[in-house]
Amino acid sequence: MRNLIRKLDEKSTLEKEEWIWLFEHRDLIDREELFALARARTYEHYEHKIFVRGLIEFTNYCRNNCYYCGIRSGNQLVSRFRLTTEEILDCCQLSYEAGFRTVVLQGGEDAFFTKERLCEIIEAIRRKFPEVAITLSIGERPREDYEAFFLAGAERFLLRHETYSPSHYARLHPENLSAKARQKCLTDLKEIGYQAGSGFMVGSPYQTPENLAEDFLYLKELDPQMIGIGPFIAHKDTPFGAMTSGTVADTLLCIALLRLMLPKVLLPSTTSLGALALDGRKKGVLAGANVLMQNVTPSAQRLNYTLYNNKERAKDIDLSPDNPLFKELEQLGYAIVSERGDSKNV
Ligand code: SAM
Repeated sequence: MRNLIRKLDEKSTLEKEEWIWLFEHRDLIDREELFALARARTYEHYEHKIFVRGLIEFTNYCRNNCYYCGIRSGNQLVSRFRLTTEEILDCCQLSYEAGFRTVVLQGGEDAFFTKERLCEIIEAIRRKFPEVAITLSIGERPREDYEAFFLAGAERFLLRHETYSPSHYARLHPENLSAKARQKCLTDLKEIGYQAGSGFMVGSPYQTPENLAEDFLYLKELDPQMIGIGPFIAHKDTPFGAMTSGTVADTLLCIALLRLMLPKVLLPSTTSLGALALDGRKKGVLAGANVLMQNVTPSAQRLNYTLYNNKERAKDIDLSPDNPLFKELEQLGYAIVSERGDSKNV
């Protein structure tokens, strides 16, 4: 196992069979050694900087019915909301005042937000906060919409591929959605010039070591600027409500392996990791992640943007520099910086 990790670190890649073997025998991995190596690679490219993004969940309407997701169209128990342009700008202001120089607009696939409406919102943010990077996470759209958003001033786009395997994808989504269509969007986004982010859920139902191997190989080939991974967490009002959730341990392992495979990529320590364990996000950083997402959505709406079971959402998010997570990371030698934090994987 040690030789395999060394090979990954030196060559930044493994063969498919090697990835499968690694995931099948992951108990043999010396985690502390792996995480230390991953941290060293992060440091080489980003030093001890942690970039913070202001996350704005601006709509929980969604036309899709993904089996795992709490805001799926079939969930009648969700109270649906959309933020107005004014409210979105207020969130941007909050994020700016907290020192964050990236906003992430995330939402369900909501037809109300037409190409024109979204362009107006992006332009309004651009005018008011010229030095802030605008990231979109709004799912699948026609290429011409992506082009229009880019021209309006959005520079980054997060779209997890979810799982590379078409058959696994089909077990997680209804048949109007496909792995191929999702991957086509990622190719479009990269070609247009976005800093693109992809990723998958760790421990999603039916996920096998082979699926994970294919996810890693796909990400290597896509060569994105960012990779967002987090544990699958069951949501009680979905078809997967009784499924076993992913684990913190497997997520940390994947973060560290991704860091060795694509050392310059931006890797968030995601909110879902924080939802599974109080110190989950700190552990993510210690496994090689270098981005944090701070939710700046007003608390009333945030409570209704529930992708998975999560007690933490009820709490107000602390945006002050005295935020305990920031403080703890600073004590460990990290610097929470007020920068756009562009990817070096260009
Ligand atoms: N609609 C956009 C999209 O499709 O990319 C953005 C919103 S979507 C809810 C954001 C991400 O949440 C998905 O890519 C998925 O990986 C993650 N997600 C959804 N349900 C989840 C769950 N139960 N556990 C963990 N992550 C989940």
